[in-house]
Amino acid sequence: SAPQMPAVPAGPAVMTPVLTRRWASPDSWSIKTYRRLDGYEALPKALAVDPGRIVELMKNSGLRGRGGAGFPTGLKWSFLPQGDGKAHYLVINADEGEPGTCKDIPSMMADPHSLIEGCIITCYAIRSEFCAIYVRGEAIHSLRRLTNAVNEARAAGFLGRNIMGTGFNLEIVVHAGAGAYICGEETALLDSLEGRRGQPRLKPPFPAVAGLYACPTVVNNVETIMSVPAIVMGGSDWYRSMGTDKSPGPKIFSLSGHVTRPGQYEAPMGTTLRQLLESAGGMLDGIPLKFFTPGGSSTPIFTPQHLDVPLSFDDVAAAGSMLGTTALMCFNETVSVPWAVWKWLEFYKHESCGKCTPCREGTGWLVQILRRVVSGSGTFEDLDTLTDAAGNIAGRSFCALGDAAATPILSGFKYFRSEFEDLVTGRTPPVVESRLLVGA
Ligand code: NAD
Ligand code: SF4
Repeated sequence: SAPQMPAVPAGPAVMTPVLTRRWASPDSWSIKTYRRLDGYEALPKALAVDPGRIVELMKNSGLRGRGGAGFPTGLKWSFLPQGDGKAHYLVINADEGEPGTCKDIPSMMADPHSLIEGCIITCYAIRSEFCAIYVRGEAIHSLRRLTNAVNEARAAGFLGRNIMGTGFNLEIVVHAGAGAYICGEETALLDSLEGRRGQPRLKPPFPAVAGLYACPTVVNNVETIMSVPAIVMGGSDWYRSMGTDKSPGPKIFSLSGHVTRPGQYEAPMGTTLRQLLESAGGMLDGIPLKFFTPGGSSTPIFTPQHLDVPLSFDDVAAAGSMLGTTALMCFNETVSVPWAVWKWLEFYKHESCGKCTPCREGTGWLVQILRRVVSGSGTFEDLDTLTDAAGNIAGRSFCALGDAAATPILSGFKYFRSEFEDLVTGRTPPVVESRLLVGA
């Protein structure tokens, strides 16, 4: 039955352009445009107060991590031990790789100085003199744009030694990954940044205690840190005036798939997909929605009965999925669920780092069985093995990638098991001919 959700206003989403407000300005990426539109005005305000007050401000604002997990940002910053005599680091996770997620790369292209100003304020708050921005290897265009922006900021005196005469020093390095999805996992990212093969570390210790070069490190997502200057300018009450009580603020939602106008939509947390779709011109060609991901392929799929679930961390969790990266991949009625699940599993198999057995071996098995099912040669026993293997990967893998790989199968079966069965019995024709399966 449909989940009971609080009443939300009908009609299109109310857009709240905070992070995206400069995107349409000419040369929005240049320091000239950024400064003309209030850029680098939060920085002197932040540098004029004690670093602890910035941490308090973030706590009061209720800002939660935009990388997917929604961990409270101010709390994370406050975990860094003070007076420990160690260097502190800020590392920006710009390795956006979750299928369907396209918010950080467009943000860095359109408004790189928001990120840089956010980094400077954050480093001041956590008493760090070094920040690394780890950019996904394939996003070479973002890497170039950020590198240029860092150079502009340094030339303007916002980076380097004695920033704005305050005695605060900071260097930012923009670093290119090599295009491995696992390097978006924060500890694999740190290993990669240190020059090693990117594989997850055991947690705890969390990076806040032992991160880059075993020093206390804050790892935050691009969108999280881009929110910082706006909060410094507007204050926590203003920030909390948007979104829900437990998930405040605006959010960039990435709409993709069978949508008339796919793209990035910035709206308050708690906006529903029904509202976002209305703003995006509805489903493409009017063909109805069949299923969608609330936050990328790692989050359990939703169906049209979830169109009115407020897209906040808690509401989505209560309805049985995760908000994740707010990557709303929308699929219409023409799409076969087993086909989509198979495609996602091919991705996870390819990206498994190989460190632990359940994920390394399990994703391979799942792909082999799914290939049989979609090509019409699967059996009912295969379907049982799929659920059994997925259930044994979830919760038994070293990092979240294993859980993520099991998710499409488990949620696909939850809502659309009959589609898998119809392929096995031959009631529906194969989704793909077996001769076209490379390596099957
Ligand atoms: P997590 O809940 O383990 O951690 C979230 C953050 O909080 C981390 O920075 C972690 O260090 C910190 N943290 C948690 N508990 C802590 C503690 N006790 N002390 C100190 N710090 C603590 O989640 P995760 O594995 O980092 O991320 C999972 C999420 O990543 C998923 O929700 C998924 O949506 C998302 N994801 C995003 C992308 C992308 O492209 N942005 C790709 C894959 C997955
Ligand atoms: Fe590597 Fe997968 Fe294990 Fe994570 S779950 S450590 S990606 S093998």
